[in-house]
Amino acid sequence: MKAQCIVCHERPAAFLCVQCHKPVCDECAFKDENGVFCSRECAARYRSYKQTQRPPVRRRPGGMLKGVIVGIVMAVLAALAAWKLGYLQITP
Ligand SMILES: [Zn+2]
Ligand SMILES: [Zn+2]
Repeated sequence: MKAQCIVCHERPAAFLCVQCHKPVCDECAFKDENGVFCSRECAARYRSYKQTQRPPVRRRPGGMLKGVIVGIVMAVLAALAAWKLGYLQITP
């Protein structure tokens, strides 16, 4: 048994609304560049939903940790260099 169109309740559904996932027939389907919708309202809702979604932020996993490690290593190297030069020697 095929799902019936939720708009006209007459014809068998040919699509599922991208927004609400309800079945719609070819006659009642509202189509735009985002896909097939059961109504103009669903298409508008989906459009506004898409606009609120930000593009994924490209971030390497562990990038922050790597930065912390590099910072520690640099601090240790700086301390070692300072010690070698005698800046850290406590002389009376
Ligand atoms: Zn229909
Ligand atoms: Zn819908």
